[in-house]
Amino acid sequence: MFFSFDGIDGSGKSTQLQLFCDWLRQQGKTVVQCRDPGSTPLGEAIRDILLQRHDLAIDRTSEMLLYMSARAQLVKQIIQPALATGSVVVSDRYLLANVVYQGHAGGLDVATLWQIGQFITQGVEPDLTFLLDLPPSAAHGRIQRELDRMEKQGDDFRQRLRTGFLAEAKRRPDRIVVVDANRPIDQVQADIRTAAERILIPDS
Ligand code: ADP
Repeated sequence: MFFSFDGIDGSGKSTQLQLFCDWLRQQGKTVVQCRDPGSTPLGEAIRDILLQRHDLAIDRTSEMLLYMSARAQLVKQIIQPALATGSVVVSDRYLLANVVYQGHAGGLDVATLWQIGQFITQGVEPDLTFLLDLPPSAAHGRIQRELDRMEKQGDDFRQRLRTGFLAEAKRRPDRIVVVDANRPIDQVQADIRTAAERILIPDS
């Protein structure tokens, strides 16, 4: 079983993912947590380039392919082996974010990004994605730390992200659950668990 969390920065992904993994482990499941980009040595190096190297000019297409590279490594090195042994994989972001950030908001062709994504993941996709949705201004206001390169893009970009995420959720309602993230943490988590329970196989 493979779950992912997505949404704009500050939507509560990390918070909700941690609570969700704790809950899965309480049920005796073996959980492999990862983040995309990241979680492999190559993926973490690419993540650093993408988010922290403010000195580098990165064209949108190059940016998209760097995310894809990090993910290709993540699938091979972590996700596929974990799924093969029956673990539950929970990822902070996945292909959907690439499609929305570089496609819907960034202007690259959305269908092409799905195709490249299908190729580089070898078709490995989350059984369910939790899309944490809230107004971009509310999400942005929650972030206290220094902003990374993607977070520094403006309000227009964040609004396009939200619209893009919701459009993809509408297109794939079987795979993407929209969760109202503009509520207290425990209420958001309760909705996530209810949605997961519908597809979790007992004792797996
Ligand atoms: P993300 O991983 O999506 O960037 P985080 O989980 O790091 O988001 O949350 C961003 C900030 O907002 C953190 O300081 C976190 O404690 C806070 N936060 C998370 N969920 C909520 C919520 N439901 N209501 C208010 N603040 C929240």
